[in-house]
Amino acid sequence: MKKILIVDDSKYISDILTANIGDSIQCDVTICYTFEETRQILESQADSESEYFAAVLDLNLPDAPNGEVVDFVLKKGIPSIVLTGNLSEKVRDNILSRPIVDYVIKNDMSEIYHVLSLIHRLDKNPAVKILVVDDSSAFRQYTASLLKVHGYQVLEAVDGLDALKILDEHKHKHKHKIMMVLTDYTMPNMDGMELTRAIRKTHSRSELCIIAISSYTKPELSAQFLKSGANDTISKPFFVEEFYSRINNHIEMLEHIALIEDMAVRDQLTGLHNRRYLFDLGNKLFMDAKKQQFPLAVAILDIDFFKKVNDDHSHKVGDLALKAISEQLRLSSRKKDIIIRFGGEEFCLLVVGRDNYHIFFETLRTAVESMELSLPEPEGGILKMTVSIGFTTDLEETIDKSLLKADIALYQGKENGRNQVVDSHDVNSDRAESDLLRTDQRDN
Ligand code: GH3
Ligand code: MG
Ligand code: MG
Repeated sequence: MKKILIVDDSKYISDILTANIGDSIQCDVTICYTFEETRQILESQADSESEYFAAVLDLNLPDAPNGEVVDFVLKKGIPSIVLTGNLSEKVRDNILSRPIVDYVIKNDMSEIYHVLSLIHRLDKNPAVKILVVDDSSAFRQYTASLLKVHGYQVLEAVDGLDALKILDEHKHKHKHKIMMVLTDYTMPNMDGMELTRAIRKTHSRSELCIIAISSYTKPELSAQFLKSGANDTISKPFFVEEFYSRINNHIEMLEHIALIEDMAVRDQLTGLHNRRYLFDLGNKLFMDAKKQQFPLAVAILDIDFFKKVNDDHSHKVGDLALKAISEQLRLSSRKKDIIIRFGGEEFCLLVVGRDNYHIFFETLRTAVESMELSLPEPEGGILKMTVSIGFTTDLEETIDKSLLKADIALYQGKENGRNQVVDSHDVNSDRAESDLLRTDQRDN
């Protein structure tokens, strides 16, 4: 489990922080009240110190009045947020001479939320990639070092062309895409403005954030950057507080947008993708399979006599059953497969690259058949379910037509007694025609 370290001689502060952290992030909280205690804990765990992903440290402790605990914890490589009672200019300069994440004035309790949001970022930033583009290696390294203090993954490029190359590589090869580009203006080969325009041909502002950092000797430059597609500009030289605030705000905004976009293509109850996703990315997968000729099956799976589950138990149990089956579908699938909750108790599966689809779906069917869902008290007992699956490996001109074939196979399975898998190739052809008619009528 990830760990977080809190050092403050006030129990009040550490209690509030602990309670709030526990609400939002899954981690163990270690609390120390003195420098000595902190030293003992970190030295005794010399090997596991890297497990601390963040520390919140009081600048003034009775046994460490001048920020000694901050220096000590930073030396251990733990990203640190500093709490201070007062913030004279001298104290600010003193704190900021150290590579800390941020400082927070502790008499103001609303600031606690700022601490929480910083901790939240330190938890997430290791998965966030930022590309720093500058021809000056000194400035590149300075910017990179600031970003690393906040735990971001940093990549560096020496000019616009280099940046485009790195962006392209990351799009295809890496799990985490680059979320943000920080670019200089004047650079050889391709300057920051040209780079911004080039990126915007393929990436929207809500996918990839561009911030142009320049000395802005000409005031219109900042406006030009924004019009060319930059999300924001920062002028050099800057205060680190401004730098971090802008970066963190933009990253947070991109994450919120990504979350909303993801929610729009998911079913709320089961967390599976929904119909909208099927006709967007599902359709793309279908077309890719046709073009590149890799094996793909389109299947429709329907829970047998599901209405009875609701009637015999409750709608709540019905929901639990839908979730349990969804989980089973997730477990049985690979990353490239697409699983959709079509609506109600019907699911659509796009399954990629299996040798024998009949065996695959048969295994899935028996996996559901052997599930035992424990019913909540006071009812108790277990619930068993079965599913019928119709599938086709014929990739027709459109995904709709393949879905229809799978649907007809499913209906044959239902009519022949349910709890079975039917390949569209095994559907009796007279039947297929009458089913087509029936389906047409049903849709109208
Ligand atoms: P068959 O074997 O022919 O598929 O019979 P069935 O009872 O499964 O099919 P039918 O279409 O008659 O009933 C589906 C039921 O699924 C009706 C509806 O109340 C229930 N249902 C649909 N969506 C939900 C949901 O989100 N939660 C719950 N609990 N039930 C749902
Ligand atoms: Mg330059
Ligand atoms: Mg059903």
